[in-house]
Amino acid sequence: MKGPKVYKNFINGEWVKSRTNKTFENINPANTDDVVGIFQQSDARDVNDALNAASEAYKKWRLVPAPKRGEILYRIAQRILKDKERVARDMTREMGKVLVETRGDVQEAIDMTFYMAGEGRRSFGQTTPSEMPSKFCMSLRQPLGVCTMITPWNFPMAIPSWKMMPALILGNTVVIKPATDTPLSVANLVQIMHEEGLPAGVVNMVTGSGGAVGMPLIRDKRVGCVSFTGSTDIGRKISEACAPEFKHCHLEMGGKNCIIVMDDANIELAVDGAVWGAFGTTGQRCTASSRLIVHKKVYNKFAAQLVERTKALKVGDGLDKTVQMGPAVSESQMNSVLDYMRIGREEDRAKLLCGGGRFTGGKYNKGWFTMPTIFGDVVPGMRIFHEEIFGSVTDIIPARNFDEAIELANNCAYGLSASIYTQDINRAFAAMRDVYTGIFYVNAPTIGAETHLPFGGTKHTGNGHREACVQALEVFSEWKSVYIDFSGTIQRAQIDNQ
Ligand code: NAP
Repeated sequence: MKGPKVYKNFINGEWVKSRTNKTFENINPANTDDVVGIFQQSDARDVNDALNAASEAYKKWRLVPAPKRGEILYRIAQRILKDKERVARDMTREMGKVLVETRGDVQEAIDMTFYMAGEGRRSFGQTTPSEMPSKFCMSLRQPLGVCTMITPWNFPMAIPSWKMMPALILGNTVVIKPATDTPLSVANLVQIMHEEGLPAGVVNMVTGSGGAVGMPLIRDKRVGCVSFTGSTDIGRKISEACAPEFKHCHLEMGGKNCIIVMDDANIELAVDGAVWGAFGTTGQRCTASSRLIVHKKVYNKFAAQLVERTKALKVGDGLDKTVQMGPAVSESQMNSVLDYMRIGREEDRAKLLCGGGRFTGGKYNKGWFTMPTIFGDVVPGMRIFHEEIFGSVTDIIPARNFDEAIELANNCAYGLSASIYTQDINRAFAAMRDVYTGIFYVNAPTIGAETHLPFGGTKHTGNGHREACVQALEVFSEWKSVYIDFSGTIQRAQIDNQ
């Protein structure tokens, strides 16, 4: 019988085995009998090969006119569009989220690639008058060289494309390490890039663990920029590893996002938003609505409707069209979520309103299926109020009034996304101003970012950068200010004008 396909590293335009001769299995979280593929368990030697290739390719790629680089990106975007269904199905198999959502993930990659292809004819700098006569001043972007990328498993094609496409359009070359749970989606993307004409060495992929592959990718002196999306704990380590060489370091990390539901909200709409925001992608989104701050006057009505809707969610294999919520991505992720369900049950005053465990029996025994879970009466001080759970668990938190709701929203180590449901325009604008996050929604849940707006968060979610939109260009380039003196004399700024 034919075994699962073996996938290799992609280095210098070729698929190559790891120097370790070791591999690991990529398992379908909805059915652990299904081995999606065998991937290379690489180490620093493979990283070195990839960095050699990327450094060499950089010499030529940086000189390719940006509109020409854009043309390649356009072709890549069109090809992902053509292959959307195939790569989305692969993604559901390796990651678990339902097919409509993996199609959305692939669509984000398409949107980002088209967007950045357009930057090939923009990437504007400035021209500005000089304070001296016969002198011309301008600023322009320059690439950073080799950019390395470390990505998580929850958006296995969208997030890699958010990093790779802006880096490439600016003339950088790339080495990417995908999450160990979801290497196939990046392998699919890299294969498309190769087939659509990206020159050898411009993009390289090395699979393997964070310690064995991730750290060498960060520490190497040839690396100009490290872009990471993942947990705050690992982000902190990456930041420290970048510091000695003052490397550009871009971090997108955890979240504990809230929806505020005011007493004048359309409750049905807010419940719709909360179900989607909390349990979409099995709650495994950095922007998941994991805190629902609800005005006391509508608390009981909102909680009752939310529990009813949540209990009705169909959980199962994401390839089944009728399923609304897939499994946790892995056994360890499931165990971490189950642990938080236990912690929630043991919190002094929190009330378990539904869920609270894992599904068992029949086909559920073959996967990592957690129940959509709601805790009520959650208050600050409880661990489930403060800590990112990254799974199918959400909290309902009572608020006495608008001011208290804002205070609760900001009582959080993270600052990624927040939202408010209200019919009052004044409250909507006040909340938009006063909640300190990188993303804010009105009458919509905390998820649903679009690629032409900056994406990222404040506090422990990020280190001041933004992904997507033109802001992503800032991560992967540096400004150069250029002065051209055509006066034929020595002119001294700030001195001759006194
Ligand atoms: P993670 O455990 O931090 O892993 C992220 C990536 O870092 C993976 O590729 C991982 O490799 C790698 N890694 C692990 N240890 C490393 C080390 N010591 N050195 C270098 N790399 C290392 O996060 P995750 O569980 O994949 O993703 C969930 C987290 O990502 C959540 O906190 C979520 O909020 C956050 N997230 C944030 C955003 C955002 O935009 N703000 C978006 C999505 C997700 P392995 O897979 O091999 O362990």
